[in-house]
Amino acid sequence: MAAYEYETHDYDVVVVGAGGSGLRATLGMAEQGLRTACVTKVFPTRSHTVAAQGGIAASLSNMGPDNWQWHMYDTVKGSDWLGDTDAMEYLARHAPAAVYELEHYGVPFSRTEEGKIYQRPFGGHTTEFGEGPPVQRTCAAADRTGHAILHTLYGQSLKNDAEFFIEYFAIDLLMSDDGVCQGVLCWKLDDGTMHVFNAKTVVLATGGYGRAYFSATSAHTCTGDGGGMVARAGLPLQDMEFVQFHPTGIYGSGCLITEGARGEGGYLTNSEGERFMERYAPTYKDLAPRDYVSRSMTMEIREGRGVGEHGDHIHLNLSHLPKEALAERLPGISESAKIFAGVDVTKEPIPVLPTVHYNMGGIPTNYWGEVLNPTEGNPNAVVPGLMAVGEAGCASVHGANRLGSNSLIDLVVFGRAAAIRAGKTINPEESTPRPSAASIDKAFDRFDSVRHADGGTPTAELRLEMQRTMQEDAAVFRASKTLAEGKEKMTAIAGKLSDLKVTDRSLIWNSDLMESLELTNLMPNALATIVGAEARKESRGAHAHEDFSERDDENWRVHSIARVEDTKVDLTYRPVIVDPLTVEQEGGIELKRIAPKERTF
Ligand SMILES: Cc1cc2nc3c(=O)[nH]c(=O)nc-3n(C[C@H](O)[C@H](O)[C@H](O)COP(=O)(O)OP(=O)(O)OC[C@H]3O[C@@H](n4cnc5c(N)ncnc54)[C@H](O)[C@@H]3O)c2cc1C
Repeated sequence: MAAYEYETHDYDVVVVGAGGSGLRATLGMAEQGLRTACVTKVFPTRSHTVAAQGGIAASLSNMGPDNWQWHMYDTVKGSDWLGDTDAMEYLARHAPAAVYELEHYGVPFSRTEEGKIYQRPFGGHTTEFGEGPPVQRTCAAADRTGHAILHTLYGQSLKNDAEFFIEYFAIDLLMSDDGVCQGVLCWKLDDGTMHVFNAKTVVLATGGYGRAYFSATSAHTCTGDGGGMVARAGLPLQDMEFVQFHPTGIYGSGCLITEGARGEGGYLTNSEGERFMERYAPTYKDLAPRDYVSRSMTMEIREGRGVGEHGDHIHLNLSHLPKEALAERLPGISESAKIFAGVDVTKEPIPVLPTVHYNMGGIPTNYWGEVLNPTEGNPNAVVPGLMAVGEAGCASVHGANRLGSNSLIDLVVFGRAAAIRAGKTINPEESTPRPSAASIDKAFDRFDSVRHADGGTPTAELRLEMQRTMQEDAAVFRASKTLAEGKEKMTAIAGKLSDLKVTDRSLIWNSDLMESLELTNLMPNALATIVGAEARKESRGAHAHEDFSERDDENWRVHSIARVEDTKVDLTYRPVIVDPLTVEQEGGIELKRIAPKERTF
């Protein structure tokens, strides 16, 4: 058994992660007087949320008619009928209040002439239940919306006396024998000390796992650590096969060009200079949802109409837009295009390619953020003491495909919901649970075994093998043959974790060890993704299966539930929640509106 000394901390709530969701949860908990710690491996304002450009969706009606029912409908359709309807209603209904709350906290939104919050069009956001023209629903602070939100929420959390543990790396959850989460073990990166946080509730807000792929818009820190911790605790991951490819990653670097660029009037062209989206999505064209646009671009390239020397990418045109509009609304991407593609957007098109961007799947939760562990008799059974929010979680509001600007709103609506729930379930007078010595030893043992790993495969090599396999075999289009091969390859790659080679054994600023721990987290996420994809014999949202090209609601309108143990993935299925929170008679949506139908744009 590994012998490590550690410091113990007692809190009502420990939030792991300081992105938009972690900070909104932290703030909400602290505002209610709960003793709240926020643990984060990077400085809060360096979390990936800082990179969010385009904006945050809410039916404020500042630029024209809109309402939450239309937003809910678009989210249901966007999800390709895989989202949980109660959670999607909760999101759309509470979105306007959540955005006004951000405004009052101090987020510097862009403004209209009358001084209202500026809103731009985004893909898949429409009027009249998908029958009317595109709506301007995405609230923006130029093209730096995430940056503005993150800085504001960090300041507000400090003001409310939340305590921050910055550059602490969470290693594993501390679970009781009867399945209650009682805390988390952390490693302080700058001085090598170890810390046990005892908590009545742990909130995982650790973000996505984009880095399981070779080319992703997400930060290098997006390594699915929450999903890894959950898998090791014997808990499941949900809908992992649904990975969003953003249509406009810059060719080569993968750096994102926001959908706001098309929202402001940009459009895609092929090698013939044709605006090809008019053929694939006659009504919404370049503003069709992301899965749709990414597939259309891939088809153009496959059919020989890609641009560039190798005919392997597409052009995004902005040069027809007024220079002032580019400078005012899209200053950040103008800069990115210059740096990463050497392009002056006022004169030339940007070379772009669909790039991994977002994970619809994650840790299953209800709309209060409580983590689910489905059992035979109860598909919605809750894990006591554990919550998950943000991209790490799966509530599920994005189902098989997320609409642009629906993630930032998910972060704040469900971060806030988790805090409301914790305020009801946590009694500050009660003493904090003591995780058992056995659970602490188990977490230390795993940490120690990675630290002293002395096999033949360096971390960077194994990570690259995983990333290339995922990129090739779990891509925009998938097929039975490549999925089966990919599953086999990924199983072998996951097996090589036992042959890992870590060269640096120190505990102070040991990036080799940190990246190795991150790889042990990426791996179960990646494995669940490809195994879930191989098993799903239909096409839905981002899962486009060439051998099963239709959506199959009879057999497959179900959430995939994946339990990962080493190289094995055990798959079961959980019913989609089809009932909304309220029906028409109670002011809610008409049921016939959200019944499944063909998804065209
Ligand atoms: C380039 C880009 C642009 C985007 N633009 C938009 C947009 O315009 N609109 C929109 O709606 N969505 C957008 N998205 C998606 C959205 O920004 C993300 O889904 C969202 O920001 C994720 O927030 P989060 O709170 O879940 O996690 P993150 O912001 O990713 O933060 C994760 C946090 O967890 C911490 N953490 C992780 N692991 C550990 C560990 N082991 N120990 C301790 N701490 C840990 C990190 O330190 C960090 O603080 C964009 C995404 C990208 C990549």
